[in-house]
Amino acid sequence: MRLPDGALARLTAEARACTRCADFLPCGPRPVFRVAASARLLIIGQAPGTLVHETGIPFNDPSGRRLRAWMGVTEAAFYDAARVAILPIGLCYPGTLPQGGDRPPAPGCAALWHPRFLPLLADIRLTLLVGGYAQDFVLGPGRVGDRVRDFRRFLPRLLPLPHPSWRTLGWERRNPWFAAELLPALRRLVREAWA
Ligand code: SF4
Repeated sequence: MRLPDGALARLTAEARACTRCADFLPCGPRPVFRVAASARLLIIGQAPGTLVHETGIPFNDPSGRRLRAWMGVTEAAFYDAARVAILPIGLCYPGTLPQGGDRPPAPGCAALWHPRFLPLLADIRLTLLVGGYAQDFVLGPGRVGDRVRDFRRFLPRLLPLPHPSWRTLGWERRNPWFAAELLPALRRLVREAWA
C-alpha cells in the first residue's frame, strides 16, 4: 500500500477543517469522505445522511448496505481505505427538506474539492457515479435512468448507478436488466479495479 503523500494529507486536513457552509448546514460542518493515494476504486455519492453524519462513516446506512450488495463486496472490503476512496458531491450533511428527504448537496462543495482531490488519486481505475448529483457533476445534465441503462457507454472508467436508497427499490423491480446486466458488470469491474 502506498502511503498518502504530503499533498494529499494536507488537502485532507484542509477539507476536514472546512467551515464554508457553516451558516446554512443545520448540523454544522462535518465533512465525511475518505481518500488514499493507493485507492483503485472511487465512489462519488450524493451527501451524508443523518446516520453518516452522526458516525462519520460514509455509507453507514441502509443505502450503503444496498450499494455493497450491488457491488458484491463485504463491509471489510468496502471500507478498505487503501483501495476504496469515497468522495461525495457534498461532503457534509445538508439537512432535510420540509416535505421529507435530504436537501441537495451543499452548492459549490464538489466544485471546490473534487478538482483538487482527483489529481492526487492517480491510481483510480473505476469511478462509480452514484445518483443524479454525481452523474450531473461529472457527465453534465442528463437523466439518471437513461445513463444507467446506457452504462456501457461510460466504461471502463466510469459507471453510473442509481442512488441506492429505498426510493429506487421500485425502479429496480421495474427494470430487471439492472440486476441481469448491470450488476454482473459492476461486480466484475470492482474485482478488476482492485485486483
Ligand atoms: S459542504 Fe463542503 S464546502 Fe460546505 S462546509 Fe462541508 S466541506 Fe465545506
